[in-house]
Amino acid sequence: MKSSQFSRKRVAVVGAGVSGLAAAYKLKSHGFSVTVLEADGRAGGKLRSVSYNGLIWDEGANTMTESEPEVQCLFDDLGLREKQQFPISQSKRYIVRNGLPVLVPTDPIALIKSNILSTKSKVCFYLTIEFQIILEPFLWKKYSTSKVSEDDTDESVGGFFQRHFGKEVVDYLIDPIVAGTSAGDPDSLSMSHSFPELWNIEKRFGSILSGLVQSKLSTKKENSGVRNGTTGKRKPTRGSFSFQNGMQTLTDTLSKELGEDVLKLRSEVLSLSYNAGKSASQNWSLTYSSDRNSKNLIADADAVIMTAPVCNVREMKFMKGGIPFPLNFLPEVAYLPLSVMITTFRKESVKRPLEGFGVLVPSLEQQNGLRTLGTLFSSMMFPNRASNDEYLYTTFIGGSRNRELAKSSTDELKQIVTSDLRQLLGVEGEPTFVNHFYWSKAFPLYGRNYDSVVKAIETMEKSLPGFFYAGNHRDGLSVGKSIASGCKAADLVISYLESSTHQPCAEQ
Ligand code: FAD
Repeated sequence: MKSSQFSRKRVAVVGAGVSGLAAAYKLKSHGFSVTVLEADGRAGGKLRSVSYNGLIWDEGANTMTESEPEVQCLFDDLGLREKQQFPISQSKRYIVRNGLPVLVPTDPIALIKSNILSTKSKVCFYLTIEFQIILEPFLWKKYSTSKVSEDDTDESVGGFFQRHFGKEVVDYLIDPIVAGTSAGDPDSLSMSHSFPELWNIEKRFGSILSGLVQSKLSTKKENSGVRNGTTGKRKPTRGSFSFQNGMQTLTDTLSKELGEDVLKLRSEVLSLSYNAGKSASQNWSLTYSSDRNSKNLIADADAVIMTAPVCNVREMKFMKGGIPFPLNFLPEVAYLPLSVMITTFRKESVKRPLEGFGVLVPSLEQQNGLRTLGTLFSSMMFPNRASNDEYLYTTFIGGSRNRELAKSSTDELKQIVTSDLRQLLGVEGEPTFVNHFYWSKAFPLYGRNYDSVVKAIETMEKSLPGFFYAGNHRDGLSVGKSIASGCKAADLVISYLESSTHQPCAEQ
């Protein structure tokens, strides 16, 4: 519904990361008057691409997927399909075992042949994949009664996967995967927040594998219904992708669509004040700093979508009905620091280049001298990211495995990256180019008490009419989930303002 009835309704969106921009775009398309306030001098948040001297790299997210329907709609609306860039050989991914990269098998037969797991774990994993549709529910039930209570939402990722597949699978598959996708470690991360789909499937079906099979069957059924019907829903593209010129193309496109009148950069929100009126009309006023004006400025709004990280929200002052609304119930969130190192090497200096997506390093491989979390083979995936005679690599260091190392100097990190790539790919000599970007708070840690953060956000929303929170602190860490979160918040704002347009607000 693109209606002019909303044209005078004003919505303030705080934060111009992908979730805030997606929310603002949806609201603008529905006829709302939107203002996006962004503290930084650029839009994009954790999407940050650089083009320099014929090289293109990403300092934040490198690829994304489009499993969420909101992402598919957004891409179609923005005409982004032609700018999508799919990696070459994306199914070729490597994990280090005994100091060397091993291709991650994509099917059970390949798994049996590979040396990523010991024979015992392989048999267990193979049995799990092939036969545990029958066996795994019994194995799981055996543990479930003694170790996990019905409403245990605090089980760790490591604990969950160990119950199902054993320790070696955790050490050599789950550990490097969670380090590569969230900079976390299996023991600290909460299963229900990190893998909510799997967690819910186990709760619902009693076993991951039979649950996956059953939910796949029901999705197939639903999809065939959709195809037979008239909705014309697009089938999601499988696998990861980026865009021409990197991931920031997505947020640049959104920013361009919103325009300069909507998007206010260098505008850090300092305080938010809610004053209940007779209707939900301009009940909010936000104070923000502006580098163009020595005085703080004020934006009035009928509703607010907050997408700033929780650590920043905790620094903002909230008022309700003229009195302070303290946020002492909003817990502190732990963050994981990460350094992203870009290096290039002349092709002749790389003696064992690998084709594919990249290589992940399990924590246990530190005993074989490896100190990085993993490396993406960026120019192997996307050849236009470097010249024909060089390879460009993106390496991650730090996370919960090694917080201190993330803070090291560029020179120290260059030595560490070069040493790891020497061992893994046979690079010789020094890199021909180095770029270092440090994120002090790359990812919020979805720790085992993360439920308290989500509950506090819900309390804020209940206590402050017209306030909605979206982004990677709530609905998942990936770019796709952040977009979906922004779009969902926009939908909630639409219903909220629609209902308050039709009936005057009750006394608050
Ligand atoms: P953010 O991008 O953090 O945006 C929040 C915005 O709020 C920021 O722009 C900030 O400046 C602004 N802000 C803060 N305080 C204020 C204030 N007071 N006033 C106004 N504005 C404020 N995901 C994937 O799917 N695939 C990947 O390959 C991937 N790799 C990643 C690699 C790295 C190094 C990092 C850091 C993240 C990666 N992610 C990846 C995760 C993903 O990029 C993020 O989770 C997602 O982009 C978060 O979007 P967001 O809008 O929720 O938050």
